[in-house]
Amino acid sequence: MSYELVVGLETHVELSTNTKIFCQCTTEFGGEPNSHCCPICLGMPGTLPKLNKKVVEYAVKAGLATNCKIRNLSKMDRKNYVYPDLPKAYQVTQFDKPICEDGYITLSSGKSIRINRIHIEEDAGKLIHERGDTYIDYNRGGVPLVEIVTDPDIRTVDEAVEYIEQLRLIMKYIGVSDVKMQEGSLRCDVNISVRKKGEEKFGTRTEIKNMNSVNFIAKAIAYEFERQVDILESGGEIHQETRRYDSDLNITESMRSKEDAEDYRYFREPDLVNIYVSEEEIKKYKAELPQLPHEKLNIFINEYGLPKDDAELLIKYKKVAEYYEEASKNLKNKKLASNYILGQIYRKFPTDSEKEEFNISIPPKYLNDLIQLVESRKINSSMASNALEKMLDSGKAVTEFISEKDMEGIDENTLRELCIKAVNENQKAVESYLGGKEKAFKSIIGYIMRETKGKADPIKATEIIKEIIGKI
Ligand code: ADP
Ligand code: MG
Ligand code: ZN
Repeated sequence: MSYELVVGLETHVELSTNTKIFCQCTTEFGGEPNSHCCPICLGMPGTLPKLNKKVVEYAVKAGLATNCKIRNLSKMDRKNYVYPDLPKAYQVTQFDKPICEDGYITLSSGKSIRINRIHIEEDAGKLIHERGDTYIDYNRGGVPLVEIVTDPDIRTVDEAVEYIEQLRLIMKYIGVSDVKMQEGSLRCDVNISVRKKGEEKFGTRTEIKNMNSVNFIAKAIAYEFERQVDILESGGEIHQETRRYDSDLNITESMRSKEDAEDYRYFREPDLVNIYVSEEEIKKYKAELPQLPHEKLNIFINEYGLPKDDAELLIKYKKVAEYYEEASKNLKNKKLASNYILGQIYRKFPTDSEKEEFNISIPPKYLNDLIQLVESRKINSSMASNALEKMLDSGKAVTEFISEKDMEGIDENTLRELCIKAVNENQKAVESYLGGKEKAFKSIIGYIMRETKGKADPIKATEIIKEIIGKI
């Protein structure tokens, strides 16, 4: 019997506001434990929260960028539970009136994953277990989050991975989060069930909480799918529960049976007023959104004429995409700029995080200048790549390494004379080329490049030589 995977994702995205959601403490990652705290985010009795307006703006932007409807009037609620990471014994979140609803993200296959809701909430503190003791760091407590919840539309591991990567990129592009998964600023709860192929009713799901690696999410889903299918095949049933993924063993294990909404005794947060977002504000936030990754992708492919694979590599890192746009300005052949970035330049940034940071020593204008010289045939590609290497090492402009004289190139008459000389002095090569050996041609061109110290235009020289030896 064949089974189908069903996955729904709840993604927590920490917002990159300067201060926390209800107080003035910094949201900066790390720091001495409990040094980014005050009576408000420690939940001391008698303190009052005040909502950070930037949080509302960022949540609305997250919603707009994922095709959601924005609710003009929403509110915050208390979700009650007792756990040491939550000093107030409740989390301030949104229950029945989330700020954004009914959106979607479209995957490269054209399939859309619906977004059921996006709500605002505060992050909890962090428990640190050491040698049998447990410590609490409240620095993260009160950092603003949006939780982005999909419908159970995901059917394969690849779709889950692509959804997370796209969501991550969108949040990065619109500047609401640094989305550093290793620092926990993007974490997923993964809901998984299986059903027999063709069946409509969903199976009972399990939920794996707090995952911050796409790789582990993929492995956990694959494992959990097999586990659930095995249970059903051997006549058992799935219990709705929360599980954790053990990356050392690559297994999931039960943590606790799942809570229902009633368990949390949600009620309105009485210390905060309603959140009102006017149509004008929504319009303004929409106008402030930058081009989204899929929009850039379309432009790179359809307007700049890049192959899809190259365009995808460029948009994967926001800084690279923006650098490329600048570097390819006014070029006739925009692929040339992409080739330099994805080839010679990327070799200087081998890791993912280096590409993400993209601390390149030369401004995009310098690369553009260099490519203009190649396009106008003032320099050839081997001169360009030598110069680029020196530019990248020094941060200096192309004019530092290539002089006007170098750029003069070889005028047509001189080149023609040289070509005649080349043909005369390389008779053997000419003969074997005429005899069908394409490769032999290279040595004739090589001769010209040597004679001119690389300044001749090899394409032009090829034309002339072929003309001379009567084979155009
Ligand atoms: P809760 O509020 O109890 O966590 P929700 O209905 O809001 O439950 O769903 C939470 C997440 O679980 C959503 O992402 C949703 O798509 C997903 N989900 C719901 N039912 C299933 C199912 N049968 N299989 C897989 N995922 C599911
Ligand atoms: Mg849940
Ligand atoms: Zn505080």
